[in-house]
Formats: sequence, structure tokens, C-alpha cells
Amino acid sequence: MKPAPFDYLRPRSLAEAAAALGEEPNAKVLAGGQSLVPLLSMRLAAPSLLVDINGLPDLAGIEVTGAGVRIGALARHADVLASADVRRVQPLVSLALEQVAHATIRNRGTTVGSIVHADAAAEMPVVLALLRGSVDAASTAGTRTVEATDLFVGPLETSLRHDEIAVSAFFPALEEGRGVAFEEIARRHGDYALCGVAATVRLDGDAVVEARAGYLSVNEVPTVVDLTAVLEQGVDDATLRQAGQDALGSLEPVADIHATAAYRAHLVRVLTARVLRKAHADASTMAAR
Ligand SMILES: Cc1cc2nc3c(=O)[nH]c(=O)nc-3n(C[C@H](O)[C@H](O)[C@H](O)COP(=O)(O)OP(=O)(O)OC[C@H]3O[C@@H](n4cnc5c(N)ncnc54)[C@H](O)[C@@H]3O)c2cc1C
Repeated sequence: MKPAPFDYLRPRSLAEAAAALGEEPNAKVLAGGQSLVPLLSMRLAAPSLLVDINGLPDLAGIEVTGAGVRIGALARHADVLASADVRRVQPLVSLALEQVAHATIRNRGTTVGSIVHADAAAEMPVVLALLRGSVDAASTAGTRTVEATDLFVGPLETSLRHDEIAVSAFFPALEEGRGVAFEEIARRHGDYALCGVAATVRLDGDAVVEARAGYLSVNEVPTVVDLTAVLEQGVDDATLRQAGQDALGSLEPVADIHATAAYRAHLVRVLTARVLRKAHADASTMAAR
């Protein structure tokens, strides 16, 4: 099948791109095209206009400061993954990106595009949500910051308006006393996960003061669950097993052609325990440094 006809614009400035989106409600931004082009080809999307932002190199930056990592809308997954500074300041971004797709797709696909595509099976939306990150969005009305907690509103749906361009995503830095970990199960490395879990654990001395986990490919939207109450009691086989069970209380594993709901529930139990144990060990190692 071929895409439905559409107009194509490659603007020279962000202002030109924003104006084009403002004038045409059925326009779509084209970034890496790794999700949008297949959707066009299958006619699951039929925009009247594609606004190709690849001519705006100012959006390709990756800025790493003590506060965190800001990733521009044209930074490719591969560029972010290659950055030692990103890995140092917020290792969870790099750990998750290692699992995103295959090398050729990471060379073209953008991390911001992945976030605003808001696929519940994708790694980066849930990492942004878990880390309490945000997205900056620009339109002819100016730029606003949308917190991750307000961003993901439904399957493949964000709270961004049709006339807004996501210009960057911000991931806060790893704080002292905090550890992170990421685990997923996919049929082949690089395929979309059957279930994935990202976790962060914060210690005060030996005591767990915060434990949260983010789930991909489980619910229809990226979902974060607070598991502090169970891990405050200690981190051992019993509490980790209980954490997996507690997480399921806040999740509704979906069934599809890849996995049954029962199998996903099993993966939630197994991966929650595994990833919290790793995040706890990571936090302990940080504290010992
Ligand atoms: C075979 C295959 C396997 C894959 N496996 C995985 C995987 O395991 N995990 C994973 O996370 N992803 C996977 N992907 C998707 C990949 O990560 C994409 O790169 C990503 O989802 C979208 O980024 P993009 O830059 O290609 O966006 P595009 O395809 O260009 O756009 C996707 C959507 O986001 C919108 N958009 C993009 N950028 C902006 C912006 N700056 N502002 C506003 N709207 C914007 C577009 O309008 C469109 O609706 C896979 C893709 C393929 C083809």
C-alpha cells in the first residue's frame, strides 16, 4: 500500500514550522520517520501536510548539565546513546536506549519523537515519566513546558496540541543516594518488549525512602507505580516478590498477538523484583562511593 497524498514542507526556521502547523490542523511533524512513515504507508495516518523538521539543525543538540539532560528534537537515539555525559548524569536514559529498536532505526529515529509518539510499548516515554521529566513545546503562541505526568493521556496520545512542536525533552539528573535499573523481555533484542520495567530506588543511609517502577508494554499508556511502602520494610526476596504483586494492583496487563494478559502479569512480577533489586544495589554502590 502507498501513503495517501500529502503536501510536504521543509521549513528553514522553527517559526516557519510553527506557522505551518498553526494554519493546517491536519498537519503532522516529520522527525526520524521511523514510526510515522510506516503509519503513512499502511494508511493508518493520512495527514494533509508533513512538516519536516530535519532542516532545523538547532534542534539537534544534547545539553548535559548538573541539573540533567536536555535532548533536542532532532537528536537521534544513536547520538544520545553514544554520549558518555548522558550516561554519567542520568544513566537510566542510556540503559533504556540500549533496548530501543535496532541500530539502523536508532540512527534515524529521535528520542523526542519516540516520547511524543507516546507508544505504551516504547522505552523512552516511561523513562521520562518515571524520572519526572518534561517536554518543551513551541507554537506561534510561544514555548511551554509540559510535565511528563501531564503528557501521556491515552494510547499514542499526548496532551500536546496539533500546532505544537516538541523542541526538547528534559531528564533530571540522578541525585545522590538514588539508583536506577532497566529490564525488559523481548522475543529478539531490539524488538518491542513484551514487558519492560524501569526502576528508581532512593536510600537514606541503609533505609529505602523511595522506590518507584515504570512499566512499558503492560497498560495502554506508560504507567508509574509507587512501591515505597513495601520496600521500606527491607529489601529481600519476600518484599521484592510482594512488590511485584503490589504493582499488579495498579496495572491492567493487556492481551495482544504477542502475549496473553496472564503472561504479562507473570513478567511484571518477575521483572519488578529483578529491577528493584538492581536499582537498590545501584543506590547502595552510589552511597559507598
Ligand atoms: C522495526 C522498528 C522497531 C522499533 N522498535 C522500537 C523499540 O523497540 N522501542 C521504541 O521505543 N521504539 C521502537 N521503534 C520506533 C522508533 O524508536 C522511532 O524512532 C520513534 O518511535 C519515533 O521517532 P521518530 O523520530 O522516528 O518520529 P516520527 O516517526 O518522525 O514521528 C512519530 C510521531 O511523533 C510525531 N513527532 C515526532 N517528532 C515530533 C516533534 N518534535 N514534535 C511534535 N511531534 C513530533 C510525528 O508527527 C508522529 O506522529 C521501532 C521502529 C521500527 C520501524
